[in-house]
Formats: sequence, structure tokens, C-alpha cells
Amino acid sequence: MKYAVFSLDIEDWYHLDYFSGKECDRSYSMLDGLDVYREILESYDIPSSYFVLGEIADSLKTNLKELSEQGNDIASHGWGHVRPLTMEVVPFESEIKASKEKLENIIGKQVMGYRAPCFSLDRERLDIVNKVGYKIDSSRIKFTNHPLYGDLNLDGFQQNIPAIYSLDDFFEFEVSTLPLAGRQIPVSGGGYLRIFPWIIMKKMIEYYLEKNNLFTLYIHPFELSSRTNPDFPDGTAGSNKFRFSLGRSTVIKKLHALIKLIQEKGYQFTTFSALREKMIHQKT
Ligand SMILES: [Zn+2]
Repeated sequence: MKYAVFSLDIEDWYHLDYFSGKECDRSYSMLDGLDVYREILESYDIPSSYFVLGEIADSLKTNLKELSEQGNDIASHGWGHVRPLTMEVVPFESEIKASKEKLENIIGKQVMGYRAPCFSLDRERLDIVNKVGYKIDSSRIKFTNHPLYGDLNLDGFQQNIPAIYSLDDFFEFEVSTLPLAGRQIPVSGGGYLRIFPWIIMKKMIEYYLEKNNLFTLYIHPFELSSRTNPDFPDGTAGSNKFRFSLGRSTVIKKLHALIKLIQEKGYQFTTFSALREKMIHQKT
């Protein structure tokens, strides 16, 4: 069986790393992209995993409860989108505990999953994720030459199927990339879906789907928001303004096309926690 897990990292536009430390107008929100995403997935009856920032969870209470009741995964994306590799381990541990508790209080269920902001995680911090009671991590991605991302060592883990690793009942789901001409192309990223023309993205994803058994997508509310761009804070580089805006008008259409392509290739849509259950049953 081949599986696809779509995930939305629920953060607002001002949480993006290239705005960090800048004066952003936080009263302007692009979280309406969550509703757009929900509507698209619900129209295909597809479940999803949602990685939520603790600091905005209260403003999304109704949404999160509904999503959880409908069988979606509510997981943690940390608290305020500070990159874990820039934090000491003690505050890191407190923040991932706090965000787990916050989400559990809202949905009334155990929160299993964690994804580090910017995939910024190392083995020491991954062990802390496991220690504080998470059962799933999805922060591992193979990137070439990307300064923000950590290199996540999985010594001692066993590989269940390619891109899924486990250490006892703790699972790591690697985010999909495609090796191409000596580089890793993140075919799973909302940013890449926006930026590349669909005709190119489709070819790469088709190739990936034929060779693999797990496809993951990660996308963000701002990418799907129907609102206009925010007033970018002073000092935002022109290249980042461009990167932020590029392809926002076409991404919804591409998301529909992507879902159809994945279905045609015989993949089954699921969530990380449902997939973890499946893997545990296969092992025993
Ligand atoms: Zn994020």
C-alpha cells in the first residue's frame, strides 16, 4: 500500500523566518487559509495532519475541536515559531511541553505529533520530543545547502518502509524530497508547489510517486489565503517579498490537481497518527 499524508503547518504570515525580529503588524492575519485548505480537503473527504503553534491555538479553538472530532490529527508546531536549533534545550523542552498541553486542553485528546519550525531539529532535541510524550515527529527532511534546516541523525531507529522510521513506539516520518541532479528537491513543499509551474511539478511528483510509498505535503495558511499580501515590515528583502507572493493565485488549482494525481497513482490518504497505528500493527 502507498500512503499520502497532507499536512498544514498552522502559523500566520508573520511567523515566517524571514520576518523574524522585524516589526510585523500582527493584527493582520492570513489564517483564513486554514478554511480554504479545510474546504478543499473536505470536498475529497481527505483527512490531514495539522501542526499548530501554541501561541495562536486559542484563537482557533472551534476549528481545532471540529477537525479533531472529524478524525484529523492535531499536532504541535512548537509555541511561537522560534527555530529549536537556536534555543537552549531547557526552554525548548518547556515550550514543546506547553504547546502539547495547550492543544490537549483544547481537543480533549492526546497530542501525538510534533514538527519543528523550519525543520530545525537535531538528535538531542528529537530525544526530548520523545521524552516529553510525543509519539510522532515529522521534522526530518533531506535538503542540500539550506542553512536553516538541521541534520537529523536517526541512529538506533529501524526503517519500517522508506521515509518511515521507528524507535520502539516513537515514529519519524520523513518529509518527501526527490533526488535530482545531485540535489534534493522538496516535492512536498507548499512553497515549491507555488513557485514551480504545474507542468514541471507534476512531472517531478509523478516520478516520485512511482518510486516511493509515502508522499507528504506541507503547506501553510498564508499560501492559500484569499487576503492580499500584508504590509511587509521595514527591511524585508525584495527577494523575500517576491518569494512570499509568487504563485499564491494559482496554488489552489494546483492543490486540486495534486490530489487527483495522487489518487490516480493509487495512494491512500491518511494522517500521521493513523499511519503510525498501521505500522505498529504490521510489526506485530
Ligand atoms: Zn512553520
